[in-house]
Amino acid sequence: MRAAVLEEHGEPLSIEDVDAPDPDPEGAVVEVEACGVCRSDWHGWQGDWEWLDLETPIGQILGHEPAGRVVAVGDEVESVSEGDHVAVPFNLGDGSCRRCQRGHSNICENVMPLGFVEQVQGAFAEELHVPVADHNLVQLPDGVSSVDMAGLGCRFMTSFHALAHRADVGAGDWVAVHGCGGVGLSAVHIADALGANVIAVDLTDDKLEKARELGAVEGVNAADVEDVPGEVQAITDGGANVSMDALGIATTCQNSVLSLDAHGQHIQVGLTTQEEQGMVHLPTDAMTMQEIEFIGSLGMPPTRYDEIFRMVSTGKLEPEKVVSETIGLEDVSDKLAAMTDYETVGIPVIDEF
Ligand SMILES: [Zn+2]
Ligand SMILES: [Zn+2]
Repeated sequence: MRAAVLEEHGEPLSIEDVDAPDPDPEGAVVEVEACGVCRSDWHGWQGDWEWLDLETPIGQILGHEPAGRVVAVGDEVESVSEGDHVAVPFNLGDGSCRRCQRGHSNICENVMPLGFVEQVQGAFAEELHVPVADHNLVQLPDGVSSVDMAGLGCRFMTSFHALAHRADVGAGDWVAVHGCGGVGLSAVHIADALGANVIAVDLTDDKLEKARELGAVEGVNAADVEDVPGEVQAITDGGANVSMDALGIATTCQNSVLSLDAHGQHIQVGLTTQEEQGMVHLPTDAMTMQEIEFIGSLGMPPTRYDEIFRMVSTGKLEPEKVVSETIGLEDVSDKLAAMTDYETVGIPVIDEF
């Protein structure tokens, strides 16, 4: 089968013929119909995250936002059959640890980040193997296509879980979103659908324009404004109720915390870069005195995907609005390179392998 293989960090992926996977007893093989390309792939391509023990190995097939058809299942698989139309979550669980049993497999004790570790090769390929298929595969309802699902990708799942489950976003709340890449734009759209007033913050006007199309009531261009938190404080007359760092650099994290009103909730969904290596200075005294919460949020448990699917099927969420274009497998390297300079708006989705 054709696959895009990591040969060297930061260098173009190699399009190669590799062996197609066979299912292990609890696993399934999925023929990939669509897969999104996002900033997490860029981090993996760069060789980031060694501070999380997640430096992507050479020889890896990246790609963690697939949807497609099951083409083979192992002997012990019970709830998945050949021909099923499925999505694959990007942080796979073992299905058996304490966290999985409580429904939190997004933070499984033995989490397998799809496409970033050798044991789970990713979906920049014609087929991929999904371990513990009964637990991990999500059946797609009628009306959600593979391209729709790849458009939802990790960004909608991450943003939805962060805003609807982890934070407490209510009607009329001010929600600030710092960084309007894929996860940020999805967060703008979701927060708007949840009834919040959304302020989008980014360095480029075209991303802010896209954010307005997706429901933001205000846009702050951080390149033009000296004091971004001050600007958010002024717009909201006292600070945001919820603020998200959707990028993961020190500036956006700190700006997000400093944008909040008392009792505000900061949500961290962006993982950091080589620059921070997971450590960011924060105004802990101010956070203590204003009873500000710092909330981490990672992905979404597959058992709750149906909440998003219901909002997609009724048109409250429109994932296709963040898909910028559909591309072929051989175009992935160019898209990753464009992310280095933040030149992409929205999400490229591969639909030709
Ligand atoms: Zn688990
Ligand atoms: Zn992603």
